[in-house]
Amino acid sequence: MTAATLTGKDLAAAIRAETAARAAGGPQPRLAVVVATADEASLWYVRSIAKAATGAGIACDLVDLGPEAAPAHVGETLERLSGDPSVHGVMLQTPLPAGASAQELAGSIDPAKDVDGANPLSLGRLAAGLPAFAPATAAAVMALLDHHGVELAGRRAVVVGRSTVVGKPLAHLLLDRDATVTVCHSRTRDLASVTSQADVLVAAAGRAGLIGAAHVAPGAVVVDVGTNPTPDGGLTGDVDAGAVRDVAGGLTPVPGGVGPVTTALLLRHTLEAARRA
Ligand code: NAP
Repeated sequence: MTAATLTGKDLAAAIRAETAARAAGGPQPRLAVVVATADEASLWYVRSIAKAATGAGIACDLVDLGPEAAPAHVGETLERLSGDPSVHGVMLQTPLPAGASAQELAGSIDPAKDVDGANPLSLGRLAAGLPAFAPATAAAVMALLDHHGVELAGRRAVVVGRSTVVGKPLAHLLLDRDATVTVCHSRTRDLASVTSQADVLVAAAGRAGLIGAAHVAPGAVVVDVGTNPTPDGGLTGDVDAGAVRDVAGGLTPVPGGVGPVTTALLLRHTLEAARRA
């Protein structure tokens, strides 16, 4: 078997185009991205958000506090942006300076503007089945599965990774769609014996090549969230695509899978926050 390539590029383009069309019909939505790092990959990512925003009719301010920013200054900045009526979406980019907790600081983002679902209140509401912005990456996995017509109800979904930005919210979203969900992490014993039970396997561990052919059931759908830098400046996923392609029924590419959909959904969330404001 050769797995179908479940690309995210066409879906991302469609979401951006739809967002641009809706954004043109009212006051321009504005997203503020707070950055406090010198990490090149992170800075590249926020610049790519700003570029995509422009194409989708959304204004995007990069608020760069520098890698030496005090945690209190980051928190105050998030509070100020949350209170600014001209800003509709607020996002805090990681990594943060030493001593700063992303989860603590994200508590300063108004949940109505929390377009990347980072405030613990947003995760709590998501877990309770109440309306909230899901983290864009978790939402992107669900959008990709829907776009490619992957059935979820009654099927076994395994998520590798339990972070509050990907694994945990994704487990709730899958559960809400009636999948039977298992979450694995670094202490999971015999990972392959668990993941090979999955009809839908999501890898979000940040470990290049963690998921090999032995981890995948024949015909399973595999979503690779991992973005691991390669020595040549590229990106590789958590899935050993060369090996898994011969076993899986479908596989998302890295790059070009979850990533572009994540950015597009962040912009759609900003539009929704603006229209609700
Ligand atoms: P994270 O906070 O570091 O969490 C990683 C999770 O993976 C943890 O729960 C960890 O377990 C688990 N894990 C680590 N090694 C493992 C192993 N050998 N076996 C099983 N589980 C293991 O990372 P994250 O922020 O969730 O991101 C995960 C990956 O997704 C990264 O590559 C990141 O760059 C990528 N990402 C991509 C996008 C996108 O849009 N494409 C967005 C966000 C993140 P413990 O909890 O036990 O430590």
